[in-house]
Amino acid sequence: MPEREFIEYIRELTARNEAACPWLEVGVGDDAAVVRTPGAGRLLVTTDMVVEGVHFVTGTGMELVGHKAVARGLSDIAAMAGRPLFTVAAVHLAPGSTDADARALVRAISEAAERYGAPLIGGDVCRGGGALNVTLTAVGTPGPGGVVLRSGARTGDAVCVTGRLGASIRGRHLTFAPRIREALALGEGFDVHALIDVSDGLSTDVLHLAEASGVGVRLQEAAIPVSEDAETQARQTGRRPIEHALDDGEDYELLFCLPRKQARALVERGLEGLEVTVVGEVVKGSESCLILPDGSREPLRAGGWEYEV
Ligand SMILES: [Mg+2]
Repeated sequence: MPEREFIEYIRELTARNEAACPWLEVGVGDDAAVVRTPGAGRLLVTTDMVVEGVHFVTGTGMELVGHKAVARGLSDIAAMAGRPLFTVAAVHLAPGSTDADARALVRAISEAAERYGAPLIGGDVCRGGGALNVTLTAVGTPGPGGVVLRSGARTGDAVCVTGRLGASIRGRHLTFAPRIREALALGEGFDVHALIDVSDGLSTDVLHLAEASGVGVRLQEAAIPVSEDAETQARQTGRRPIEHALDDGEDYELLFCLPRKQARALVERGLEGLEVTVVGEVVKGSESCLILPDGSREPLRAGGWEYEV
């Protein structure tokens, strides 16, 4: 079944659990859960798997696998405009893996966790029985601007994205840096109404954001920042570079909505040295569309990554 359908099923099942958890503020459905601690503050909690054959090909270096596991988890904390606190990891090593592999993997996880300010404080390890898999849980706290959810986009907002998109499969999906600093600066200095990280692909994640906010998005194809990787990839696939930028997953850039005037300032000045592009606007209603360079429009379809589960 499609991942969406499965998440719907999980939502139904967990509704009672969520209702029974007095600390929960935001449950299944955003980039991370928001939990109010019995003491005072709020925590952001997210867990992500990185699985051989799904998120990386067999033979990928342990350094890259470990880095990706941490970066993916922390990208979800960034997607809430949060500050990471710590991580825990559960590692399953494939039967044929060596002790050197095991050491290299755990070292990569701990080094990446430390580098991004989310020290590894615990976990579990086992070996045998199946593919290599790292499950990374990241815990954070709201940044100085507070938590930013997917659901706050307002009519008239500009829709912006950081960096350039497409064909991360050429390597960036293993080496990207989660946009933690950038998201904190965004939350602190701007009225960001909605935020998500681009993990499933721009078209799909725009629709996630629009749906959560109960609005439509008018996406301008000509404005979408296309990566060099997408250009290169397109020469091999015979597709257009823009198709890779629109639909490929795992860019892990920030996609967000804020007032137009603030968007213009960000485009001019950049965000912590990172380029920002306005790719569309939030419109009333629930229909999202793609405006083509000739001015014609077509319904925006979720062309990005969707798992079958
Ligand atoms: Mg996410």
